[in-house]
Amino acid sequence: MSIKVAVFSTKPYDRQYLAAAFAAKRDHFDLVFHDFALNLDTVALARGATAVCVFVNDVLDAPVLEALHAEGVHAVLLRCAGFNHVDLVKAETLGFFVANVPSYSPEAVAEFSVALLQTLNRRTHRAYNRVREGNFTLDGLLGTTLHGKTVGVVGTGRIGLAAARIFKGYGCRILAFDPFRSDDFLAEKLGAYEDDLDTLLSQCDFVSLHCPLTKGTHHLINEHTLAKMKPGALLVNTSRGGLISTRSVIAALKSRHLGGVALDVYEGEGGLFYNDHSGDIIEDDELMRLMTFPNVLVCGHQAFFTVEALSEIASVTLQNLADFVLSHPCPNSLVQSHKLFARRDSYPVRI
Ligand code: NAD
Repeated sequence: MSIKVAVFSTKPYDRQYLAAAFAAKRDHFDLVFHDFALNLDTVALARGATAVCVFVNDVLDAPVLEALHAEGVHAVLLRCAGFNHVDLVKAETLGFFVANVPSYSPEAVAEFSVALLQTLNRRTHRAYNRVREGNFTLDGLLGTTLHGKTVGVVGTGRIGLAAARIFKGYGCRILAFDPFRSDDFLAEKLGAYEDDLDTLLSQCDFVSLHCPLTKGTHHLINEHTLAKMKPGALLVNTSRGGLISTRSVIAALKSRHLGGVALDVYEGEGGLFYNDHSGDIIEDDELMRLMTFPNVLVCGHQAFFTVEALSEIASVTLQNLADFVLSHPCPNSLVQSHKLFARRDSYPVRI
């Protein structure tokens, strides 16, 4: 008998990479792909599954976890690093195994952050459209040279560190803020830490966010912190949309204090990103207002999206599942204690 895994929010590329990673274990694991997200309306589709496999915009709050528990699901496999969308306390109470893929390709996300920043700075997004229309003028496309500028890296974990290394290659001066300082950042002499965010913001020409979304970091960039930024500074966020108050960013853009913003993530992305809404009326007025500014760039949460990252996500997801099934210690487990998988002996999985 194989173990059923209900896989939510899948696109053709997810199916391709997961199917390839699981190919050798086809007799043990039965992946059932759904293209829609997991939420209270769809949770019944997990019936009969031992595990659910989910992505960034699936809902794993207390009611959904309770419903999963009632359907007999034991494990939650995240195909992402962030777990701000999972009620871990509830998951632990219910005895769920929860594991993420903590580091599938920090360089992929860091490279994309710098690419977004340079696109915004050098106006490549506008130049692309202009040239296609046969307009080769340069008015409005003036950027600044990155070399010698000060970049603020907020969060020096895996991605922030990779971003700092790239910025150093550009010849930037790097200031960082992180309540937990990185030994690597210091050992590699990538830059200097500031004791508080406001001091960092007041000195930087560019600011790149690389910290997780928690209760403490929700709207880290708000009316007050935006006011601390240097006039004309550019802001990049590839971390989580909730780090930024969109309303405050719109006000800072309208007052011309903020020089521009590049977003790969958006606080209201849940019902929109990863789906085609080109024929719909989008009701999110803040997002639509944001996209009217010439100095705003929005992408649909794609910083992770490389061949290498998709392969790593699929293989680590398989390994996490195997650890759960075999009751092995899982390095990526996000809960302290979960009930050992009761039927482990029924599944002679060898990984
Ligand atoms: P990480 O856990 O390795 O590092 C996060 C760092 O942020 C840690 O060093 C932590 O101490 C620091 N931090 C916590 N609170 C902070 C605060 N208030 N101010 C400054 N720093 C703070 O995480 P990571 O792998 O580097 O990921 C960073 C972010 O990128 C996460 O939010 C993750 O969800 C997001 N991410 C986005 C994509 C994408 O495709 N856009 C892909 C992967 C990860």
